[in-house]
Amino acid sequence: ALVTTSPSRFLSSGTTVLQGNVSRSYFSTGPPVTESTDLVYSSHGDPSQVVQLETRKLPELKAKRTYAILPDPPAVGGNEGVGQVLEVGSQVQTVKVGDWVIPRDAGLGTWRTAAVFSEDDLVTVPSDISILSAATLGVNPCTAFRMLSDFESLMPGDTVIQNAANSGVGQAVIQIAAAKGVHTINVVRDRPDLQQLTDRLRAMGATYVIKEEMLRKPEIKDIFKAVHKKKTKRKATANNNLNNTVYLIQVYPKPKLALNGVGGKSATELLRHLQTGGTMVTYGGMAKQPVTVPVSALIFKDVKVRGFWVTQWKRDNKQNEEALHFMLKELCTLIRAGKLSTPSCTEVGMKDFHKALDNAMKPYISSKQILVM
Ligand code: NDP
Repeated sequence: ALVTTSPSRFLSSGTTVLQGNVSRSYFSTGPPVTESTDLVYSSHGDPSQVVQLETRKLPELKAKRTYAILPDPPAVGGNEGVGQVLEVGSQVQTVKVGDWVIPRDAGLGTWRTAAVFSEDDLVTVPSDISILSAATLGVNPCTAFRMLSDFESLMPGDTVIQNAANSGVGQAVIQIAAAKGVHTINVVRDRPDLQQLTDRLRAMGATYVIKEEMLRKPEIKDIFKAVHKKKTKRKATANNNLNNTVYLIQVYPKPKLALNGVGGKSATELLRHLQTGGTMVTYGGMAKQPVTVPVSALIFKDVKVRGFWVTQWKRDNKQNEEALHFMLKELCTLIRAGKLSTPSCTEVGMKDFHKALDNAMKPYISSKQILVM
């Protein structure tokens, strides 16, 4: 795999902002930053073989940078991270010294200690959320937010089913859905510490956590019944109206939305549990297997099979700043309210990048590797 094709498996928490407790005033009064330590790759391949640490001179700061610079190899890795603005050109308007910023688009190269970018390449984020939240905000939570908003109109009490539920995207799906009152059926791969993982995802708001094998067993039907019973009980107590209960069971018998980050058999199983007319959105293909859609799901259930790529959404909405800012604002509100936590993270110093790259490629790690500059 290419280092850059697995963007969110490896995050950089930005530039010098993460140097322990250094305050912002350090940056404005300290010596000018003229070089950066970068994690660079010259060819594609096994990340631990191709990525190298290099110190490189920064380009000169211009009044305003107009064009995004396409990286010529060797290129700096990393699509995510947070940095702090140290200095701005005289005509720069949208960012100011001290701002926390994240990349607007993929491919910016965040595995480095300092860089010179156009203001158009950066989005300012609030600095009252944790640095880890800011460093991991731009991709996984945005992907989860869009998939829960743009494909089906989800109401409180609806159900969403997803695989790779312990992934960064999956954890954000669980929490954003729970904040909307939407139930989640979360599929994970079996592992020795399954109970621990189940407990962690349940604590985030997961309604059910099940192993992939369970999707193929008849007992899965009981889970859907149980979800509806749970919903039924709450509604019945709230309204003291049993007719309402029956109505809800008939309207929402199965998940309206399935989110597929795996592909292969796992995706086919998700499709089987969708309600008639429901949607499966594929956003990742961790199993590297194509998605097979049963003919019956198309003919008799008329399911919709869609795809989503957050990078394309950001590009399509480049002129629509409001949509991006609204989403980031909503996500930050959830973060401040304690309803959207950072994914489980392991912080690694830049010089130990080999360890981080190796861990990022291992299965069952359930933890983001965060490069601390
Ligand atoms: P993480 O690194 O946080 O998690 C990876 C997940 O994939 C884990 O749940 C892991 O499970 C699972 N996994 C790995 N290998 C397999 C396999 N062979 N079969 C089944 N599951 C597997 O990933 P992210 O949340 O950052 O990304 C998940 C996927 O989504 C990736 O494919 C990524 O490229 C994609 N993505 C797509 C976006 C888009 O806009 N379309 C945006 C963000 C991510 P386990 O713990 O069992 O190893």
